[in-house]
Amino acid sequence: MSKLRILIVEDEVDIRRFIRLSLEKEGMSVFEATTAAQARIKSASRQPDLVIVDLGLPDEDSKVLIRDMRSWSSAPVLVLSAQDREEEKVDALNVGADDYLTKPFGVPELITRVRAQLRRANLVSAGPSSVVQFGQVRVDLATYEVIRAGEAVHLTPTEFRLLTALIRGYGKVITYRQLLLDVWGPGYSDRPHYLRVYMTNLRQKLEDDPTQPRHLITELQVGYRLAGLTT
Ligand code: CA
Repeated sequence: MSKLRILIVEDEVDIRRFIRLSLEKEGMSVFEATTAAQARIKSASRQPDLVIVDLGLPDEDSKVLIRDMRSWSSAPVLVLSAQDREEEKVDALNVGADDYLTKPFGVPELITRVRAQLRRANLVSAGPSSVVQFGQVRVDLATYEVIRAGEAVHLTPTEFRLLTALIRGYGKVITYRQLLLDVWGPGYSDRPHYLRVYMTNLRQKLEDDPTQPRHLITELQVGYRLAGLTT
């Protein structure tokens, strides 16, 4: 099996080095770019399996780079964000990034996020299956059937659309804006309270402990993600 190829786009040498060493220890091949201009060249020529992009690059807005990269690469994009760049992080997710890490982060967090994105990319390329499973829940996207611990669960059409949106974006952080657009349509982007209500309903119906969700995960001030899909 060939090595997984990771491109790091980051101007800070210490962070670049930290990430490179951590990922090389995992047996991955790592390429570096210090500017957006270099990243454009290397992401096209090296064809990485995953790209890690810092949100503060010296030569260009990282969001423009990510949006453009989406036109020639389907590799997952993990953004690195500083704590005071909350809004920028959400914007990056909205233009096509898949997940983020907030600086400072440790090795385990980095590896977990990278592996999760690579797994997701694999799952997506394996082709869509109509049946997915997480925890005790089994969802058939073709027949709208939801079963939890052997018993049929009734979801309203809106709850089912929300669950479907989370399944399609499995492993990604999906922003409030993306979910509102997907589930309710244009014109609802200023109504995140809709999401809170419907997420509470979904957790009541699908999680073992709705107060400690293990699959329908909140990303504070950003959005939601579905975790722990087994098929
Ligand atoms: Ca930077």
